[in-house]
Amino acid sequence: MEIKQASFLKSSAAVGQCPKPNKPEYAFIGRSNVGKSSLINKICQRKSLAKISSTPGKTQLINHFFINKDEWYLVDLPGFGYAKVSKTLRSSFSKIITDYIKNRENLMCLFVLIDSRIPMQKIDLDFMNLMLEEGNPIAIVFTKTDKLNKEEYASNMKAYEEKLLEYWEELPPVFYTSSKNGEGTKEILDFIDRINQSY
Ligand code: GDP
Repeated sequence: MEIKQASFLKSSAAVGQCPKPNKPEYAFIGRSNVGKSSLINKICQRKSLAKISSTPGKTQLINHFFINKDEWYLVDLPGFGYAKVSKTLRSSFSKIITDYIKNRENLMCLFVLIDSRIPMQKIDLDFMNLMLEEGNPIAIVFTKTDKLNKEEYASNMKAYEEKLLEYWEELPPVFYTSSKNGEGTKEILDFIDRINQSY
């Protein structure tokens, strides 16, 4: 898919304020600093559509962008990872995130971003397990792959796959990306395109 147009639409402080759910929607989420804004900008081929390195912990907003003249929505969800250890899985994630995931009916796929240099973090795993529990389709997106050499890359990815398969029967779709050299962005767009075709 070619990105012909990408614009910011609105920020919402609650799922009820989001645009009408009348187009396929794809959301991006991950721990702060995972490279989410950089990847969104790379995918959309815009320099500063999503704000890079916004201060962690500031107001949590759901940011909608409309792509290719309203064909689909791209959503930048608030970063997670600053929550303290909590009694229940659900309360590790802010209400805005859990409400969005539970209630956004046009959400076609949630891309969960993971820094490929860092070993699996409990919060990432908890989040993916929560998604599974809710029956939401997810894809895993490893970021910053340019920062690893071949050996590190292979061993990190193998460790992730083994860990994930301890919990799941099979892996969800996985993408390997770099916002620096553009690796993986075409694959993500083609994946979105295929889902849009069947919407
Ligand atoms: P966010 O907090 O998840 O939105 O993360 P940002 O997109 O702001 O990126 C955090 C930092 O990682 C910034 O300094 C980016 O320049 C850097 N970064 C993001 N993606 C990549 C990547 O693919 N490769 C490299 N080398 N650096 C990246």
